Amino acid sequence: MLTQYHIEIMLTALGERFSPRAIAAVSNANIYQDRIFGQFGHDEFHFDNNAFAKSYAYIEEQRALTLAAMNTRDVLSAWAAFGRMTHTLQDFYAHSNYITLWLDRFVGQTHPASSEVDPVDLTLIQHPNLHSGRTYYPFEFLYFIRSTRKFSLRILPRDSHAWMNLDAPEQGFKFDYAMQAAIKRTVIEYEKTTLGFSEEMCKLFLDK
Ligand SMILES: [Zn+2]
Repeated sequence: MLTQYHIEIMLTALGERFSPRAIAAVSNANIYQDRIFGQFGHDEFHFDNNAFAKSYAYIEEQRALTLAAMNTRDVLSAWAAFGRMTHTLQDFYAHSNYITLWLDRFVGQTHPASSEVDPVDLTLIQHPNLHSGRTYYPFEFLYFIRSTRKFSLRILPRDSHAWMNLDAPEQGFKFDYAMQAAIKRTVIEYEKTTLGFSEEMCKLFLDK
């Protein structure tokens, strides 16, 4: 997803829970994953190239780092790890065909509202046809340049990141479903991460 949408997801999902300075720190760590050196050789940050196992492992690694940091009351490291974790889980909906598979269930009917999307449907998460966008370099670069975007789509295959991504509203109506799923999943993973926190740890983590 583009930076502005990661920020929007963070604010909608968790903006009320965290203090302004805490949500800023978490969001900064989230969007820093899309820095140029985070884009290449780090499929696990973004669920790119069908790196499902690596991405799930990365999420759990960052969750464990969040807990470890909180156990030593190192809240800055906890915010950073938690922010990195949320980036990956949000990209799942923008870079895989999960939303398409979910919507396919309603072929011939009106689609339910995007607010109805189920972000953790196990049959879809384990679906044999679940896949994520592949990055075909160097042609993928042409997709990121406005003037060569159309040309890149003519040469890139349909399973490319360029064709599959739901990174921005211009990708069509499915973007809204990806946003809603990412918001819901962020809340679910926040609750899972903070489940074992003591009251004092919660206060420190939320900075309230
Ligand atoms: Zn990303």
